[in-house]
Amino acid sequence: MEPSENTNKKPIAALLRQYPRGHVIAAGSLVLGLSLLLAFSSSEGTSSSRQSQPIALKLPDTGQVLELEPASLEAQPPFEAAENSPQPQAPEPEPEPQTLTYTTFTVKSGDSLSVLFKRAGLSDRDLYELIDQAPEARALRRIMPGNEITFGLTPEGELEELVYQRDQLRSLRFARQDDAFASEELERTPDVQIAYRRATIDSSLFLAGQRAGMTDNLTMELAGIFGWDIDFILDIRRGDTFSVLFEEHFLDGEKIGNGPILAAEFTNRGKTFRAVRYVSAEGDANYFTPEGRSMRRAFLRTPVEFTRISSPFNPNRRHPVLNTIRAHKGTDYAAPRGTPVKASGDGRIKLAGRKGGYGNTVIIQHGQTYETLYAHLNAFHRNIRSGVRVKQGQIIGYVGSTGLATGPHLHYEFYVNGSVRNPVTVELPQAESVPSSELARFKSQVQPIMAELEQYHRETQLASVGNELRVN
Ligand SMILES: [Zn+2]
Repeated sequence: MEPSENTNKKPIAALLRQYPRGHVIAAGSLVLGLSLLLAFSSSEGTSSSRQSQPIALKLPDTGQVLELEPASLEAQPPFEAAENSPQPQAPEPEPEPQTLTYTTFTVKSGDSLSVLFKRAGLSDRDLYELIDQAPEARALRRIMPGNEITFGLTPEGELEELVYQRDQLRSLRFARQDDAFASEELERTPDVQIAYRRATIDSSLFLAGQRAGMTDNLTMELAGIFGWDIDFILDIRRGDTFSVLFEEHFLDGEKIGNGPILAAEFTNRGKTFRAVRYVSAEGDANYFTPEGRSMRRAFLRTPVEFTRISSPFNPNRRHPVLNTIRAHKGTDYAAPRGTPVKASGDGRIKLAGRKGGYGNTVIIQHGQTYETLYAHLNAFHRNIRSGVRVKQGQIIGYVGSTGLATGPHLHYEFYVNGSVRNPVTVELPQAESVPSSELARFKSQVQPIMAELEQYHRETQLASVGNELRVN
């Protein structure tokens, strides 16, 4: 989340002053903290009036309380002073904050905002007022069953505050501020713990993962990391082992999900592969060997999930529609119409348009050496047009049969230095290693992680040796 301009302008003090259900302000995200600082530093020299209370931010990780004092307070806004009353020396004391009554509703299937407002004792007029005054309230139209909405009402029954809990971590809050509603997005930071699992494959990768207490998603992620070196359908053998170090996320002591895999090791038919996650200086997360070589190739072998190869690469083929000998310069992957087609590598779109018998075609230029071509597309992805940069795996279009094609399929061509190659057999270059300028940063980031993986590894080995000794 980036601090948006809006965030900086919100009267955060008012929003933080009260929190329903007596929670400590969980605005622990550093991003919000940062945006607060930005808000105050940018307030110098501007003429907005602000609350005078210091703002306490409790960081959930450390329990540290951060107090922020607004740097300077503007003069009181001009107001009609009652006649004869002396000019006040100091700003009037703030009126006591009203005591609000908070009620939380869980959205049920079939609930609309209007229904929820009625349940809270409010009218459609209140709802329109909120949506009219706070553009962010449009997000409320996407409420889903299970979401929670908290209403804070004055003793007179007027809406003063509304909190929409989008998910376990993010909430959107609206608070009446003068004559309008101000909004604020709050994000909680989960507590992160490192977890370790190790398994030996007996029959299948997924069963081994499940036995080790891994979710199928986590196992899939693991397979994705090593999928460039190991064919998980053909290469897996009984006795293969793997271990994985990953993040587990907790909120108020309850597990809410897994974070990324931090490091993993896979031994396939006696050969061991190691991977570690590294977040580059630019913020991109990727997996590398502990030496800094990329775990992935610069190109996907196949840019589409296909049912079969309907026509292989063949320089001397009789064309099925033209019935003449004409090289088949690519591989045809049969797939249902509409199947997403992915960019096989990072690059720049050279063409996204009609190209004779190829029909709707995308050509991607990958650096100086490589080019890939995707033909007969039913449609292009809406973000795809000439000149646009794409990432490996990004959807560029959808399988179709435009141009000269007998049925829906992707015709895929692969060029190296201008000459066409068989996409199925061409040697795919490794994706870029960690640049040498970043190697020191890489080492300092990944060495402790690899050491931790090793440590767990030794401990479990010792434990299993101990078990065997006990059994025998
Ligand atoms: Zn073809």
